[in-house]
Amino acid sequence: MTEHHTGILYIVATPIGNFSDMTQRAIETLQCVDYIAAEDTRHSARLLNHFNITTPQIAYHDHSDEKRLQKIMQILLEGQSVALISDAGTPLISDPGYQLVKVVRKEGVRVVPIPGVCAMVTALSVAGLPSDRFIFEGFLPAKQNARRVYLESLRRESRTLIFYESTHRLLDSLQDMTDTFGSGRKAVIARELTKTFETVLDGSLQDLVIKVTEDHNQQKGEFVILLGGYKKSDEFIRIDASVVQTMKILLDELPIKQASAIAAKLTGLKKRDLYQWALDNKL
Ligand code: SAM
Repeated sequence: MTEHHTGILYIVATPIGNFSDMTQRAIETLQCVDYIAAEDTRHSARLLNHFNITTPQIAYHDHSDEKRLQKIMQILLEGQSVALISDAGTPLISDPGYQLVKVVRKEGVRVVPIPGVCAMVTALSVAGLPSDRFIFEGFLPAKQNARRVYLESLRRESRTLIFYESTHRLLDSLQDMTDTFGSGRKAVIARELTKTFETVLDGSLQDLVIKVTEDHNQQKGEFVILLGGYKKSDEFIRIDASVVQTMKILLDELPIKQASAIAAKLTGLKKRDLYQWALDNKL
């Protein structure tokens, strides 16, 4: 069978909260295909009902059995088309789809992207952190030991780092990040993007741990955590969080040069290092 006679697999992005972010092309594609392969068919029913899409759904998860994947392959080889969606955002991005796309492409069947929302890009676009180079790390390991080991491997990563995090691990992860990257590392928490309680908090990791601990509402919902990349001057910030505090207080009143000189006397650290840190952190 030539490629011409096979169906097409569409990879369709859906909103991450606000249904108005659904694209016209996504609606038309989901209406026109023969089947919609969804991560959770009950969850997707809400979105499909909202847009009056009546296309039959089949469940698909990368951990579904091989039979399910073969069934979708069969549908495509018979010339019918399938659209893959996930619970929210772009399929394959911390969501099912990789196994399916890999197998389908191997068979020479066309895979067409229908782009739309992705939480990490949405968060990066408002974070105010360097966006020319970044690294997406998805979800960190759930167990603390594994998480700390993993974070340690990223300690000297100079690109902006982007993580997904769930509500019950937010504080633990922030704490582990503080211990690994230093309390002064710049961070952003993008919460409930495109939804009613959307908030984008920024500050040092230390600031954010305090804000999130004090305000329990900031621990509810869905989160993207972004960190500024490693700078040489981070080395000494790791030594003592109180240095960061001292510098901030002095910089509120004095120019960088004087603040660094006084902080050097108070802390015993090198004036040059403190000066560089203030420049790097744009204080
Ligand atoms: N495929 C999705 C995408 O394109 O972004 C991501 C799916 S992943 C299973 C879910 C995670 O994405 C959440 O735990 C959270 O970290 C992030 N996320 C999804 N929706 C979000 C939102 N509205 N605000 C902030 N983060 C969100």
